[in-house]
Amino acid sequence: MHTVEEIIARLSSQGLRVTDQRKTLAKLFVQEQGYLSPKDVYEYMGKIYSGLSFDTVYRNLRVMEELGVLEQIMFEDGVKFKLHCREEQHHHHLICLQCGKTYPIKHCPMDQTAVPQQFKVVKHKFEVFGYCASCVREEEADALS
Ligand SMILES: [Zn+2]
Ligand SMILES: [Zn+2]
Ligand SMILES: [Zn+2]
Repeated sequence: MHTVEEIIARLSSQGLRVTDQRKTLAKLFVQEQGYLSPKDVYEYMGKIYSGLSFDTVYRNLRVMEELGVLEQIMFEDGVKFKLHCREEQHHHHLICLQCGKTYPIKHCPMDQTAVPQQFKVVKHKFEVFGYCASCVREEEADALS
């Protein structure tokens, strides 16, 4: 899931109408590669489509997340979206607090046997925050200078 064409193909294969707005959204996330808050997206889209409502933007983000085009993560300052990782299977993320880059990890800490039988699990979240290799290097370089 990394080109605009692939995203559009995914949307239309799921029966979603590929509107001009959705194409623009796809382009934005392909260019960005990092996390965007719904507000960031709304501000960007608002410059292109006048009179666009925040609800419409947010609904499109949700739909694209449900179809596996976007991934969402809850940050301390709210939910943010990014393009889905190349990793298609169940995975979690290492997230750099400095540059915002995300790295998928296959390790899953979820222990199904810990869940009571009557509880139907739909999804779970697990994110690891820290500093990526290049941000650590920069910090070390700063400390030396
Ligand atoms: Zn991912
Ligand atoms: Zn980083
Ligand atoms: Zn998991």
